[in-house]
Amino acid sequence: MALDEIKITRAIIERFTEKFLDCLDLDVAIVGGGVSGLVAAWRLAQKGRKVAIFERKLSIGGGMWGGGMMFNEIVVQNEAKPILDELGIASRPYEDEYHTADAIEATTTLASQTVKAGARIFNLIQVEDVMLREDRVTGLVILWTAVDMAGLHVDPMTIRARHVIDCTGHDVEAVKVFLRKNQPVALRTPNGGIMGERSMWAEVGEKMTVEHTSEVYPGLWVAGMTATATLGTFRMGPVFGGMMLSGDKVARLIDAELKSG
Ligand SMILES: Cc1cc2nc3c(=O)[nH]c(=O)nc-3n(C[C@H](O)[C@H](O)[C@H](O)COP(=O)(O)OP(=O)(O)OC[C@H]3O[C@@H](n4cnc5c(N)ncnc54)[C@H](O)[C@@H]3O)c2cc1C
Repeated sequence: MALDEIKITRAIIERFTEKFLDCLDLDVAIVGGGVSGLVAAWRLAQKGRKVAIFERKLSIGGGMWGGGMMFNEIVVQNEAKPILDELGIASRPYEDEYHTADAIEATTTLASQTVKAGARIFNLIQVEDVMLREDRVTGLVILWTAVDMAGLHVDPMTIRARHVIDCTGHDVEAVKVFLRKNQPVALRTPNGGIMGERSMWAEVGEKMTVEHTSEVYPGLWVAGMTATATLGTFRMGPVFGGMMLSGDKVARLIDAELKSG
């Protein structure tokens, strides 16, 4: 069989375009493909929701690849062990409360299960703004990461979504741009804005991150370290259970809201 370079090129363009067109109108658009974003997309796809992640970098997985300080093992507490099991990520108990998993296996398996469940992941695309209709966030404004890196003067495009989740980690990017461009809007936080992340206190930080996983403005949700920073709780260091539980929680809350119409 002779390989035809033009056919290969056409196959890539046609299949990507097919995939991309199918995601212009979503149930849920997720900003950032780190741990919380992947778990949220996996769970929503499992529930039959049309969901896509837009990730700025070439690789997804966010901060999970590097474990703690580049020792590539992750620690998960008892509460989140069922998520590891459901995903099929091998783990070993460590003393009474903890489980460890290889960070590479955890990241690759999570990514694989997310795609296999039916979520779409678009890497190399960054979110630079949200769409707004009256008092509701209704989608994302997206641009190729490379355009931004090269400083090119190119207009972005848009994705419509019934719900948007900011999973951009510490940087809280979608919420920040929403606040900056739409003053005097107020978030559902004690100060109406981003409270800011506090210093390390793992036990409280983990619990509060899950508790603070919520809708901070109609149509705009926060999960993972974005919830930690937006609602102002403590950082927790390299324990990943809270990130996973937060992704799981936001997916269940949004699914329930979609069900209720
Ligand atoms: C300085 C530093 C301190 C840390 N401290 C802690 C800590 O205290 N506790 C803790 O648990 N973890 C910490 N981490 C590790 C890591 O951030 C988290 O453990 C974990 O990965 C957070 O998960 P997440 O899903 O919230 O976000 P992340 O895993 O960080 O994933 C966020 C993803 O969003 C993407 N993204 C960001 N902006 C955009 C955009 N505009 N458009 C598209 N994609 C975007 C990023 O490329 C990334 O892939 C730290 C990391 C750093 C760099």
